Amino acid sequence: MTRKLIYVDNAATTKISEDCLKAMMPYLTEEYGNPSSIYSIAHTAKFALENARAKIAKSLGANPQEIYFTSCGTESNNWAIKAVAYLKAKEGKKNIITTSFEHHSVLNAAKHLEKNGFNVTYLPVNQDGVLNPKDLEKALNENTALVSIMYANNEIGTIQNIGAISKICKEHSVVFHTDAVQAVGHVKIDLSEENIDMLSMSGHKINAPKGVGVLYVKKSTKITNLMHGGGQERTLRPGTENVAYIVGLAAALQNATKNICEKENKVKILRDMLLTGIIKNIKKVHINGSLESRLAGNLNISFEGIEGESLLLMLDSYGICASSGSACTSNS
Ligand code: PLP
Repeated sequence: MTRKLIYVDNAATTKISEDCLKAMMPYLTEEYGNPSSIYSIAHTAKFALENARAKIAKSLGANPQEIYFTSCGTESNNWAIKAVAYLKAKEGKKNIITTSFEHHSVLNAAKHLEKNGFNVTYLPVNQDGVLNPKDLEKALNENTALVSIMYANNEIGTIQNIGAISKICKEHSVVFHTDAVQAVGHVKIDLSEENIDMLSMSGHKINAPKGVGVLYVKKSTKITNLMHGGGQERTLRPGTENVAYIVGLAAALQNATKNICEKENKVKILRDMLLTGIIKNIKKVHINGSLESRLAGNLNISFEGIEGESLLLMLDSYGICASSGSACTSNS
């Protein structure tokens, strides 16, 4: 008898959707031209690339020139943080502000900068997993080059008050970056209405493949390249573009952002049903983080008296794929 698989680990990664796969297939097979070449199959690839950029920009409320393709969320975060830090250092600004519960691609980029003469402030979050914007206001100083605060947390799913945080940064003329890898495609984000200067996203959290990402950079925000090479992505992110994956990312994002609020409500109802069932049937459970300010598809619970790993192995024996933390920290 084949065992039914119950996959509840979509914060770690998601399955490629049929629409995404269908959109990618021509560029994985016949339309293999290099978008920078001049013959017709190259034009087809270039057209697909720019069409994907326009679709992604529209889905996020951005301008196509503000969309840069990268290899993943980790690259987008590293690029945003290090590039702005190096640029601002030339003006003598060497303070970076972030939180202590960012993804490792932000925390380790910040640690790298600390080793290279920068000063990093790690703001705490409260017991609910939420940052008080007033703490950010207090931490800002005339040497602050950049604030990088995640939109939604990858483990407990809490959503930060990005509106208030980005407004404070704007008032202090400090560049604001957000790691929105867990938020894009799950909560409504309209960049035309927000004070976000830079935003990172990743394909594999929204039913596109692993190994493709985006860094949004507002037109008025100065950025430099970390890699040096050809003229791709207006010379800022060289390397032959992964046309098929980029096309897939555009299809997946378009799908994810369509009727996003309705989908969010539907997922929330299912999430709450699961939570009610758990609370009713199991004693001594604790919900980690705010339930109100949280991604609809996230549930993070502590069960008293059992180790996370034992619980996960037991769930796996029932065909249930869950996690006790970020996939990036499973070896630590
Ligand atoms: N930021 C957050 C919040 C994430 O959850 C992840 C992936 O788990 C990343 C960044 C890294 O994205 P990628 O796996 O595309 O490098």
